[in-house]
Amino acid sequence: MGGYTRETNLSQTQKISCRTKIREKIFAGNLNLKISSQFLFFNFRKLKDYVFVKFNYRIEVPNLNNPFEVHHGVYLLGSSSITHSDDCSVYLVDCGKEELVLIDSGAGSSYNLLVDNAESLGFNLTHLKALILTHKHIDHIGAAAKLRKNYHCKVVAHELDAKDIEKGEQFLTGAKAYGVKLEPCTVDIKLNQPETRLTFGKLEFKLIHTPGHTPGGISVVVDIEGKRVLFGQDIHGPLIPEWGADLEKYRQSMEKLISLRADILCEGHFGVYQPAEKVKKYIEGYLIQYSR
Ligand SMILES: [Zn+2]
Ligand SMILES: [Zn+2]
Repeated sequence: MGGYTRETNLSQTQKISCRTKIREKIFAGNLNLKISSQFLFFNFRKLKDYVFVKFNYRIEVPNLNNPFEVHHGVYLLGSSSITHSDDCSVYLVDCGKEELVLIDSGAGSSYNLLVDNAESLGFNLTHLKALILTHKHIDHIGAAAKLRKNYHCKVVAHELDAKDIEKGEQFLTGAKAYGVKLEPCTVDIKLNQPETRLTFGKLEFKLIHTPGHTPGGISVVVDIEGKRVLFGQDIHGPLIPEWGADLEKYRQSMEKLISLRADILCEGHFGVYQPAEKVKKYIEGYLIQYSR
């Protein structure tokens, strides 16, 4: 696959050190991650098969420990530091007219905390109309079945990822690597277009197919109070071919995201970026990295 490189030219010590870093820092969800000029390895097959990406710039992420309002009606409800180390960032959108939407659900074990956090912000999830799953990875879909069952919300995902979500596929969703049992979840609305618009409350959600990280990855754009908010989960990758990643499609998707000129980026693991200039820089940074 173009641009995809196997580990070949690093010493054993470097490999071990990189493996440890990626496991402990990224997948254990330490948001105080600081990386500069180094190779990072991802190992999902018990030390057999490695994929790596190169980072040569610095990432600094604030430590976010409590749910908070990101922008008018948009809340960060859960994340690796707020709810559980396995969780992606979980965003709640208050759409008005007593309709709520969740973007992703975390890996599953933090379900009760997510419900509590919504309550602490003054929301009751009985008003939850939709759970939008940006892609099929376990850290984003683990609580989906429970949320659907308990709140009767519509689960939305792209059809290319929906089949693994509905099957409860353990390997391709990353559930096996996380050591989590994925509960299968029915996907009520299966997207199959480059762009789909759904309205909840007073807000129009644009769901844009952005494959690359997974075949059925989507990004969500909502214009709220004069700002364009982009929910772009897992822009950072990783790109694991064995899980269906595609570098060329990823590049095209990132170009598409840049062209949206979002003011606020709600990312999947590394927090919230604004204003527009920082959003562009963040996406471009990964585009450059994955182009080398
Ligand atoms: Zn992912
Ligand atoms: Zn993720």
